Amino acid sequence: MAKRNIRLNGDEILRKVCKPVKNITHSVITLIDDMAETMYDANGVGLAAPQVGILKRIVVIDIGEGLVELINPEVIEKKGSQTNDEGCLSLPGYVAPVERPEYVKVKALNRKGEEIIVEGEGLMAVALCHETDHLDGVLYIDKALDEIAPVEKGI
Ligand code: ZN
Repeated sequence: MAKRNIRLNGDEILRKVCKPVKNITHSVITLIDDMAETMYDANGVGLAAPQVGILKRIVVIDIGEGLVELINPEVIEKKGSQTNDEGCLSLPGYVAPVERPEYVKVKALNRKGEEIIVEGEGLMAVALCHETDHLDGVLYIDKALDEIAPVEKGI
């Protein structure tokens, strides 16, 4: 595994629509492993492939309950709403409030190419929405209810 460079806001690759993964090749598996390492190294709860410069529909998430790897994720159900301060590894040091569904259900493939269903509430629902948005070139600042503000020191 190898850590990859995280692209920062302003990099046009973050604004592109990613392509679905057609074949889960060796390089796709390596990418997923590298994304997980990069996310953990940066203390993030999620990372999408365009954030490491790759326009493929792949995300990794770990909200502290174990690593979730999603290939070609699609949100197929949403319920309720919640508003929380959200951050992003591509805008380090900043947060802003964003309204998201309280619950989402996502359909995706795992690394074996099997269809999986992942459900999330609370922070997991936020992470699923935030990361799948990245695959369509959408950043949380596009949906934020207020200006981004620096994270308070110590957090
Ligand atoms: Zn992000």
